[in-house]
Amino acid sequence: MRIVGAAVYPVRLPKRTAFQVAYATRTACRSALLRLETEDGRVGWGEAVPVAEVTGERRAGAYAQLERFARERLPGADPFAREELSVLLRQELGAWPSARCAVDTALWDLRGQALGLSLRQLLGGARTTFRASCSLGIKDTAATVAEGRALLAKGFRDLKMKIGLDPKADAARVKALRAELGRGFRLYLDANQGYTAREAIAFLQGLAEEGVELVEQPVPAGDLEGLAEVSRHSPIPVVADEAVKGPETLVPLLARQAAHFINVKLAKCGGPSGAETLVRMAEAAGMGAMVGCMIESRVGITAGLSVALALNNVRYIDLDGAFDLADDLVAAGGAQFECGEQFLVEGPGLGLTVDEEKLARYRDEGPEEDQ
Ligand SMILES: [Mg+2]
Repeated sequence: MRIVGAAVYPVRLPKRTAFQVAYATRTACRSALLRLETEDGRVGWGEAVPVAEVTGERRAGAYAQLERFARERLPGADPFAREELSVLLRQELGAWPSARCAVDTALWDLRGQALGLSLRQLLGGARTTFRASCSLGIKDTAATVAEGRALLAKGFRDLKMKIGLDPKADAARVKALRAELGRGFRLYLDANQGYTAREAIAFLQGLAEEGVELVEQPVPAGDLEGLAEVSRHSPIPVVADEAVKGPETLVPLLARQAAHFINVKLAKCGGPSGAETLVRMAEAAGMGAMVGCMIESRVGITAGLSVALALNNVRYIDLDGAFDLADDLVAAGGAQFECGEQFLVEGPGLGLTVDEEKLARYRDEGPEEDQ
């Protein structure tokens, strides 16, 4: 099987409502879809979501690198030459993890189609459904409670609250959510690097009785000592997110036992291949994994969910990035949500069809910084 065509489509898919986290407010999914075609007519898809604060990439640079790699390296390549392609990806797109993710995902899609197996099956096939979670952006207390109530009514049993701007206000929102909505749901917190270690420890100790399941990235990504300190003193399990990118960044974290879990995102680690490595490295060190996402289309979400369903050491998912998008690029198949669970309408590879007319309709012409 040889690749004969490779094309990149930058898209901007509006969100229904703006979403605020500690470092930015987002109003759209901005990503690039990679379409690979083989000589026997198979089409494979991947998605690149570069976000400077998370993947360390500038969007324009990541798209240019992805387009160059697609033009120069993919035509003529055999998707089953895994080692050769992985060396090339590391050498040429080493600093561009989301671009690597698009290529790696599309290659897995083609391999799965050729073998008649889904990506979930190819990577391990541990289970077929996963308890879903959905994020609440930073809002005032009343809006947080109202949105939490609406999500529970939709069937979610896990809510993830974004925090990190003000520990006092954050603690008040957590307590209000429990007081108003009860204990019948799991609550995750995500500070997106917003606190110092000292602030985080005091904050988390104050919430010991609130039944908080976990807290993501309480301190800046570069502060591994601070993260380890919080992990030692927090009554709530700590998840390293921005501190973990590719497998090389996990080594110092494991050596320090700096967190209880890691949040693996395909855009940070170069796709399903890097994600599998991270989840297995964590497993070897007795650390669990969560599979998270960016604000991305259901193409990228399907790849992330496939990894999560495949591997036993994934304990949580946060794959809500497409729930609030105003439109769906996927015409059939892929990741689904029902009754608080995420699962696949499964087929070989990613098992999905993209509505290619929408790639033109939502073509991203916007400036770099416009979100
Ligand atoms: Mg996070």
